[in-house]
Amino acid sequence: MTPPVATLSAADRGLVDAARTAAGNSYSPFSHFPVGAALRLASEEIVTGTNVETASYGGTVCAERSALVAARSLKGQDLEIDSLAVVGTAPHLRSCPPCAICRNMIDELMSPDARVLFLFESVWTARSVKELVPFPFALDRTPARWWSRMFPRRH
Ligand SMILES: [Zn+2]
Repeated sequence: MTPPVATLSAADRGLVDAARTAAGNSYSPFSHFPVGAALRLASEEIVTGTNVETASYGGTVCAERSALVAARSLKGQDLEIDSLAVVGTAPHLRSCPPCAICRNMIDELMSPDARVLFLFESVWTARSVKELVPFPFALDRTPARWWSRMFPRRH
């Protein structure tokens, strides 16, 4: 059971609730670690995803990437994401930040200032994408692009 979300704004509570509901659709017979993710788009629409495991393990898809793929499938290049909430519903879970693979997709499909909400050490935590992924992997990440991303007002 995750701690109460009383410290979050009403909008963030709604996003966390949507992620928790999505976790109810998880297919996680191997890890028994259900996770849900919910994206609030700039249009105020909410798109959710859940983790789906496979017997091959390597084919497993996390909730965050499920939601991002669904949103990109719906909106294409017009996709604009305001916030992402991640909720794990395993008993006694204290932390559920996005994994490193998901962080890369978050970095590529969300803007640097978009927000990511997750539980960390039993505290609801919000970080910008650029805080969550300070040194992102990208094929075209030149030092100048990295600098302008980290300090956008200077350029
Ligand atoms: Zn992940």
